[in-house]
Amino acid sequence: HLSLANSHDVGPRSAEAFSRAHRLMPGGVNSPARAFGAVGGTPLFIERAEGPYLFDIDGRRFIDYIGSWGPMILGHAHPEVIEAITKAAQRGTSYGAPTEAESRLAEQIIEAVPSVEKVRLVNSGTEATMSAIRVARGATGRDKIIKFSGNYHGHVDSLLVAAGSAAATLGVPDSPGVTKGAGKDTIVLRYNDVAGVKAAFAKHPGEIAAVILEPVVGNMGCVAGSPEFLQTLRDETTRDGSILIFDEVMTGFRLAFGGAQERFGVTPDMTTLGKIVGGGMPLGAYGGRADIMDQVLPAGKVFQAGTLSGNPVAVAAGSKTLEILRNDPPYEYLENLGIRLAQGLDQAAFDAGIDYQVQAVGSMMTLFFNTDPVNEWADADQSDREAFGRYFWGLISKGVYMPCSQFEALFFGRTHTEAMIDETIDAAKSVLASFA
Ligand code: PLP
Repeated sequence: HLSLANSHDVGPRSAEAFSRAHRLMPGGVNSPARAFGAVGGTPLFIERAEGPYLFDIDGRRFIDYIGSWGPMILGHAHPEVIEAITKAAQRGTSYGAPTEAESRLAEQIIEAVPSVEKVRLVNSGTEATMSAIRVARGATGRDKIIKFSGNYHGHVDSLLVAAGSAAATLGVPDSPGVTKGAGKDTIVLRYNDVAGVKAAFAKHPGEIAAVILEPVVGNMGCVAGSPEFLQTLRDETTRDGSILIFDEVMTGFRLAFGGAQERFGVTPDMTTLGKIVGGGMPLGAYGGRADIMDQVLPAGKVFQAGTLSGNPVAVAAGSKTLEILRNDPPYEYLENLGIRLAQGLDQAAFDAGIDYQVQAVGSMMTLFFNTDPVNEWADADQSDREAFGRYFWGLISKGVYMPCSQFEALFFGRTHTEAMIDETIDAAKSVLASFA
């Protein structure tokens, strides 16, 4: 890693901080994508963030298109969110006992997300998907689950099979340490493969507890589930009595206030949430039909618990974030910014004469260095990662902080402006022009 530091545009303090971190933490980070491994370099160490900007410890400012990998739809350090966090912290940071604020957040989620009649709060997206799978198995008395290659649902053993995100980026879609037993009941299908879904249900009637998917994938780059695909999943699971789980950890409160399910009008049985729902604090949630959620202890018998679940500080951040999104919805604004950015990147790549696809849904987007449209992992896997790396570092040198992998979607939020989008497009134009 370190020998590459000077070949990329990383300041001396970040380089030094990474070298120290390397001695202390595996790969120098607490989550693998952060190490910039896919683009062969040293990560920028961050000092602070405000609105759409990140500031690194070398004193440089970047327009941020990661937004903490999704949560920061209102921009960093939103004054009202910070105030809510501060006030909550002053009343004590954790009680391990029920609070009224948890019911308030539960109400907000239930009101917003069509499929959610009852909800439970957890601490991360991983916990949400892990728990949803357990509840689905408990509720149906079945073992098998279906997932799709290139979809990422956190580091849950049974879901860390053909996984997207950093698992795909860093070449471990099936991680060592996941036993054959843990993956044995996981059926992996191709995303957007309608025939594959039908065949799996025909082959395993009455055996599939749940189908879990990202309704719009962010974790192999941005890939939308086709209307036919989503509807087939809804129809097949209903017919077979298995549970359809939308993993909306990324898409929830982003593609619409009610998530992808509101946007596409397909209502799953269960939904997992994370990122935005915690307003930048560690909080996730899973919910769904009341009869399914009532299987969870102590209403039912499926065990799931958490010392810090419903943490008052995290709940305050999430609740304030959802309140702002509901009262002053940014979605139309984000939609327009998205169109502007997608068109700009499209033009920039076209002018540069490279093979590319710009794929976007609302405020999620990926510029794939790829000849063909990307509908599933096998397509995404064709992308030119070396070109992506050059694009990434070129943008860094121009003050634009994009996800450090071809297989991650970019995000933007309420504090990004048209002028920033245009600045980003100009940066992309000059970077891509140098490819010729
Ligand atoms: N599900 C999806 C769709 C995600 O994008 C992620 C994280 O990126 C997760 C689950 C896991 O969430 P967390 O990282 O909070 O455990």
